[in-house]
Amino acid sequence: MLELRPDCECCGKDLSPDSTKAMICTFECTFCRDCVETKLFNVCPNCGGGFEPRPVRPSREHRKDAFLGKRPGSTVRKHRTIDLEEHAEFARKLKDIPPHLR
Ligand SMILES: [Zn+2]
Ligand SMILES: [Zn+2]
Repeated sequence: MLELRPDCECCGKDLSPDSTKAMICTFECTFCRDCVETKLFNVCPNCGGGFEPRPVRPSREHRKDAFLGKRPGSTVRKHRTIDLEEHAEFARKLKDIPPHLR
């Protein structure tokens, strides 16, 4: 089950479970769309993979227990300082390769 982390690891912006701006890699590294597009070049600084929009968990109970009220998002914030110069160097050789070929 997705953790639904509460913030962007790069800029610290809040990413609530219903946010349409949250992006994740396969390891659930979580960033806002702005950072993914303008600072990370769709390259995860932790694994080198690409990002996809994070699905939104239903806020209402359509099926038993399968909703935010029973399965809330994480409250553990992951914001940290990312060295964007180092990342640009890391991303330079990856950003032009489609994620499914990295
Ligand atoms: Zn961000
Ligand atoms: Zn990652």
